[in-house]
Amino acid sequence: MDSKLWVLIEDKLNTKHLMFTIILGFIAMIANAFPIPLVANLQLILGNVAVIIVTILLGPWYGLIAAALGSLSLIFSHNGAHALLVYSAEAIWLGFAVRYGLYALYANFFYWLIAGTPLFYIWAKLFYELPDSSLPFIFLKHMINGLIYTCIGSIVIIMTSRFWNQYRITQDRKRRRFSEQLTYVFTIIVTLSLLVSALVFNHNSVQDRQVLLQKHIHDMTIQQGKATENFLKQNQTAIEHAAHWLGRVIDSPAEQQTILKRLSQHYPNFTTLNIANKHGDITHSILQSKNAEDTQEMSIQGAEKDVINVKDSPYFQQALHQNKKYSSPAFEGIGTHPKAMIAISSPVHTPTQPDVPVAVLQGSLELSNFTGFANNQAFEIAQYVLLVDDNQRVIYASAPLALPTLSSFQYSKMSNQIYRTDMNLMNLHDLSNSSPEYIYSKYQMNNGWNLYILESFAPIIRSVEAQFKITFAFLLLSTIIAMFIAKTTSKRLTKPLELIANNFTQIKSNSNDVFLLDHFAPREVYKLFLRLKSSQAQLLKHKNELEQTVAQRTQELEDANIRLKDLAEKDSLTGLYNRRYAETRFETVQELCERSHEPITVALLDLDHFKRVNDTYGHLAGDECLKAVAQLLTKHFQRESDIVARYGGEEFLLILPLCNPAQTAEHLNAFRRDLADLEIKHPTEANHFHIKTSIGAFVAHASYSHLLEKWIKHSDTNLYQAKTNGRNQVLISYDEALTYPNQQQV
Ligand code: GH3
Ligand code: MG
Ligand code: MG
Repeated sequence: MDSKLWVLIEDKLNTKHLMFTIILGFIAMIANAFPIPLVANLQLILGNVAVIIVTILLGPWYGLIAAALGSLSLIFSHNGAHALLVYSAEAIWLGFAVRYGLYALYANFFYWLIAGTPLFYIWAKLFYELPDSSLPFIFLKHMINGLIYTCIGSIVIIMTSRFWNQYRITQDRKRRRFSEQLTYVFTIIVTLSLLVSALVFNHNSVQDRQVLLQKHIHDMTIQQGKATENFLKQNQTAIEHAAHWLGRVIDSPAEQQTILKRLSQHYPNFTTLNIANKHGDITHSILQSKNAEDTQEMSIQGAEKDVINVKDSPYFQQALHQNKKYSSPAFEGIGTHPKAMIAISSPVHTPTQPDVPVAVLQGSLELSNFTGFANNQAFEIAQYVLLVDDNQRVIYASAPLALPTLSSFQYSKMSNQIYRTDMNLMNLHDLSNSSPEYIYSKYQMNNGWNLYILESFAPIIRSVEAQFKITFAFLLLSTIIAMFIAKTTSKRLTKPLELIANNFTQIKSNSNDVFLLDHFAPREVYKLFLRLKSSQAQLLKHKNELEQTVAQRTQELEDANIRLKDLAEKDSLTGLYNRRYAETRFETVQELCERSHEPITVALLDLDHFKRVNDTYGHLAGDECLKAVAQLLTKHFQRESDIVARYGGEEFLLILPLCNPAQTAEHLNAFRRDLADLEIKHPTEANHFHIKTSIGAFVAHASYSHLLEKWIKHSDTNLYQAKTNGRNQVLISYDEALTYPNQQQV
């Protein structure tokens, strides 16, 4: 095989699923080969349970494979090629329906309603000779089958769902609501039990009816058969007795005629009564008609010329030569309508010579006049009588059977192909048709004739079908009602859960939720509610604690951040910005001032003879002094844009943007003077001291340089000069671009 194609197939097919499908397909095939016969032409094809299981679990395509396998046995064993079409379509339909969230039973119901039935109809129209009247019943039959095996399949899956999950023999499907699942399970169980009980009930009732019917016609057949035997026997006995009496009056033609006449009056079914002498010449004759006036009597003397001779007739020969009574086979009587007759004859002998017949008495009996047949109303309605002689010729047939008298009797026995019943079935007219025409019962008479009583089959099957239709209409109605009740009940059961779910999605305490569940809510659900309620309270408490902790931690973190920032930006002793921070800030300040053409002053301060402070008052006092200087600096230079930083040791850096160059010197000097006046307290001792400072500054347009060190270089030079000039002074230099003296001591 092409390797690409194989990869594609492997991609689409799961080998494990395929194996499972094939195994179940074979199970379906075997089970379908042995359908369970139910009533009439209904049989349960249970193999499809396996097909349904595959379809529900693995979807339409695996279902199709299983359905095709399962149908194989039906194709061969039950002449049901349509099964392949109808069941394959069913599997595909069901597979997709289940995949899209419909339940199998509902899907199957709609399949047979919408798709399966029309498919089957077309198939039946094309390939079967089914009468249209029986189609609804056949649809019903398929639907019942479909619903039963779907119910069973669904129940099997529900009962074994853990197994399928464990071995991953499932397809993806929509997650269903709890109430829907409950409704479905309830519906399946109700449907299945209703279907099965309806089938059992119908089976029993139809079976009983059929047994009764068969028994009834059987009894009637025996009764009518015996009546017919009696009828023949009576007429034979009558001929025999008359022959006996004729023998006593053999010499008196007149008395013979009287006996003959009396015989004809008592036995009106003899159409002719003849006495023939030993030569075969008819000596006396009565031709009887239904009307007494038409009855002709003849007494013929041997000398007359138009005498009728019967010496070649079998009845004469049998009676005269064999010396015994005789009944002929049936023959057709003379008349306008064909009539079945038999000739009954008996030898006549004198009392003295019983072994030598002297004459023969013969009567022609018309058979259609059997007592009870034609006049019995019961036969003409639904039941018919049929009498067939030992040569298989119709002696008598009720008129609706439309079998000509003496026609040869042909029938086909139905071998229960389609319709399953214990009754005897036969077809008389359409011998090849598979649907039976009559049920019958047969009685074999002692002369080898057969008497049948038949009843039309169509009304019986119609009544069975009607019973089924009514039962299943009620069943459908009950199922719908059951579904409705199940839906309402399961909603009642699941509503509390839904309420709880909705209620507990927002985690906040709800004061009036004690009334959330009414008294119908199941105990388990109520317990769940209480538990959730207490966990919710705990959760709320926990949440509040957590929020407090988080707030506290956040505050601590913020504080720590500020401290960290201070540590990074500020000098710990004086609280002023450190040198690094000043350098970074300078870049921003310079850029800003450059854009707005503003000047900047950069000043460096160095305390005068600070070493002496340390030496005289101690290092602690030195530190205290530095703090005091810082404090005074921030007081003097408090504009937001001013940067006051500790440059190192006892040196300070001032970056003063937006300064007025004319006032800068004065500003710095004011500070210098204030510092000089400042009394710095000794931290431990009760005395105080003073400190002075030298300041070197440089004023220029911001555009002078973006490098701070260039500015500081000028300030530093000026500071050095200030120190050299005697300390405690401010020395400022101005950039050439500014119209100020280059260096100024103030
Ligand atoms: P001049 O007028 O020439 O500046 O004399 P001076 O003594 O101030 O000399 P200089 O500026 O070189 O001296 C710096 C001294 O400052 C050295 C050191 O002992 C002292 N010093 C530097 N940092 C600190 C500090 O943080 N605390 C204290 N107590 N003393 C410091
Ligand atoms: Mg110094
Ligand atoms: Mg100094």
